[in-house]
Amino acid sequence: MDKFELQKLRDLPIEGVAERLGLRVARHKCLCPFHDDHHASLSFKVSKNTWCCFVCGAKGGTIDLVMQHLNLDFKAACRWLADEHNVILDEWKPQTSDISHHTSFDASRYERFFERPWLLPEARKFLFEERRLDERVVRWCRLTSWKDKQGVPWLQIPYYDREGKLVGVQNRNLVRGALPRFRFPQGSQCVIYNLPVLNLLHPGEALYITEGCSDCWAMLSAGHKAIAIPSATLLTQKDIELLSSLSSPLSTDFHMYPDRDEPGERLFLQLQKVLPSLVHHQLPLGCKDFSEYYLKMSDDP
Ligand SMILES: [Zn+2]
Repeated sequence: MDKFELQKLRDLPIEGVAERLGLRVARHKCLCPFHDDHHASLSFKVSKNTWCCFVCGAKGGTIDLVMQHLNLDFKAACRWLADEHNVILDEWKPQTSDISHHTSFDASRYERFFERPWLLPEARKFLFEERRLDERVVRWCRLTSWKDKQGVPWLQIPYYDREGKLVGVQNRNLVRGALPRFRFPQGSQCVIYNLPVLNLLHPGEALYITEGCSDCWAMLSAGHKAIAIPSATLLTQKDIELLSSLSSPLSTDFHMYPDRDEPGERLFLQLQKVLPSLVHHQLPLGCKDFSEYYLKMSDDP
């Protein structure tokens, strides 16, 4: 992990991190989880992004809070923070072809997996019970699954370019809370997800841009056409150029429900620079991303 990545984790808003850990923050204070506290002795200093308990003396920044509260070592705490906040660490990043030509993606090794998708019970549970996705969407996206040598079930997600050529594969760990959550085969170019949908787009039709493929599946299941940016931290100049090239010939309306957090809003602003007509939709309170909103809508239609 380099200095720059660590700084990103240290800069995550401290009260947000505390809330992700399950602490209830009110007026920059909460009950201290490190001693038997009844008076909200732990206080947050937002300007310095630190916390401190006046009774037991525990204190620190974002990483210390995670280490102490979840009893993790430094590295594991960093991974937890990154995963919870959609920060993609270098060690998780797919290798891009411009780093070196001998790491190019060998599509022929993977194509056959997606010709006859096969869903393990763990994958069916994840897709249809937990996320309540439409079966047609899962088929369209050619999602499949496999188990590694350790018996860990993975969802395998193919990335195609606009012509339908396989350009990358993303593996998602199906064990809840397990890390790493994602794995990319060598040379995978997991750039913009679901590009083939552009060929189905009618002139003037709305296209939704989501963050991550899970939100894209929810958006598709809700009956919208959608593509996904893998993560705000993965957007490259090449992706930006591709997006801006879509804008004129399609006369498409671009829409987005940014995640209800800082990275989500930052991604929206970043995209709006390339797609000036991008329409901002606000997720309702209590829904941090579109997947949650979709589940809520399917609860009470
Ligand atoms: Zn304390």
